[in-house]
Amino acid sequence: MRNWAGNVDFGAARFCRPDSVDELRGLVAGSRRVRALGTGHSFNRIADTTGDLVSLAGLPAVVELDSAARLVEVSAGLRYGELAGHLHRHGFALHNLGSLPHISVAGACATGTHGSGDGNPGLAAAVAALELVTADGELRVLSRAGESAAEFCATVVGLGALGIVTRLWLDVEPAYSVRQHVYDDLEHEMVLAHLDEILASGYSVSLFTRWQPEPTYQLWRKRRVGAGDEGGAEPVFFGATAAADPRHPLPAMDAANCTEQLGRIGLWHERLPHFRLEFVPSRGEELQSEYLVPRALARQAIEAVAGIGHRVAPVLQVCELRSIAADEFWLSPGYRRDSLGVHFTWIPDPAAVLPVLAEVERRLAPLRARPHWAKLFGMEPAAVRELYDRYDDFRRLCAMRDPGRKFGNDFMDRYFPRF
Ligand SMILES: Cc1cc2nc3c(=O)[nH]c(=O)nc-3n(C[C@H](O)[C@H](O)[C@H](O)COP(=O)(O)OP(=O)(O)OC[C@H]3O[C@@H](n4cnc5c(N)ncnc54)[C@H](O)[C@@H]3O)c2cc1C
Repeated sequence: MRNWAGNVDFGAARFCRPDSVDELRGLVAGSRRVRALGTGHSFNRIADTTGDLVSLAGLPAVVELDSAARLVEVSAGLRYGELAGHLHRHGFALHNLGSLPHISVAGACATGTHGSGDGNPGLAAAVAALELVTADGELRVLSRAGESAAEFCATVVGLGALGIVTRLWLDVEPAYSVRQHVYDDLEHEMVLAHLDEILASGYSVSLFTRWQPEPTYQLWRKRRVGAGDEGGAEPVFFGATAAADPRHPLPAMDAANCTEQLGRIGLWHERLPHFRLEFVPSRGEELQSEYLVPRALARQAIEAVAGIGHRVAPVLQVCELRSIAADEFWLSPGYRRDSLGVHFTWIPDPAAVLPVLAEVERRLAPLRARPHWAKLFGMEPAAVRELYDRYDDFRRLCAMRDPGRKFGNDFMDRYFPRF
């Protein structure tokens, strides 16, 4: 059993696929060490265990829309792509999506997965309530309102440490349409001088760069139709030119795999991700890392990476810059701060990538960069601890809810040791 990227061999003694929540409860109650596995798209050992690795793919799929309450109830193992199609058929939408629709809802929320947009917090921000199996095999429901609100904020982006999530209730909104334009050759100086205007120019904005030979950027701008979208694209935007043909973030790759561009109006879930749902990216051809820095320090972060562009470029496929709005989840990399995400898609060669990653981290550490929990990072636990105000509260809660560290693993023991 390996993760999607093929760089992690799971060390589980048993792989389990319960068919019902009751079976899952019995399994958790009787297990010494247990961990949930979503779709296995994480790039580090966060999902691993030496005990029972549990997939929820065998549980009945649930998608129950309550249009009056604007909520959808979903089974934890459901993938965003499946959910989005269902919602759209009923005239509803989510506030945002990550770049890949193939990941599970519970796995994505557990690690603070996000898309882009100044007004868009991570995907977990849509969670209104969740149900989970706790260490003693009991079922609990936590919701954002009421008595459980504080524990809810600890558990939604909970890294799998507080139980196995079985169901989630997500906020939905009326379906919307989006058009996407790509601009080529946005210059570094323009990005530094007009970063806020550029990131605010669409509902979801991404900047792609390879840093070398010069740091120039490709701008992907997704605008909601009817919300500041006047239809056409300016032919020139801060000196960058609107692409006349569809683009892929990597020049050598086929744009047919990407969602439609050139301003063609499309459904929200067929424009917000960069890649089409029906396109399954080939496994194991990349590694990823990402750091969220406070928006106020975004320019310094860009300059810090540009300064080592010559070190980064040889092991890089592409870098993506995105904006993420603040949220209230204790361990979210966007906890209480609007952020710029500095994402790296690396070549699939850990030996070559890791020394460069260490250099990136040295550059970004003074900017209080928080690593994406599901991607490769090498920061020391003491440094990570300093980045989260509620770090010790989270450890206390783990000790209370899971005194035997049933949901622990090497990753959690390293970053969240027992008191
Ligand atoms: C090609 C690619 C593109 C990506 N794009 C983005 C992006 O645009 N934005 C972004 O932020 N990230 C992105 N990621 C990272 C991805 O979103 C995370 O790795 C996410 O965690 C994947 O979800 P998963 O279901 O595969 O989780 P897994 O890797 O299976 O698990 C991740 C964690 O969630 C826990 N977990 C899973 N299910 C449950 C459950 N039911 N209950 C409790 N805990 C659970 C696991 O124990 C583990 O700790 C991308 C990854 C890939 C491979």
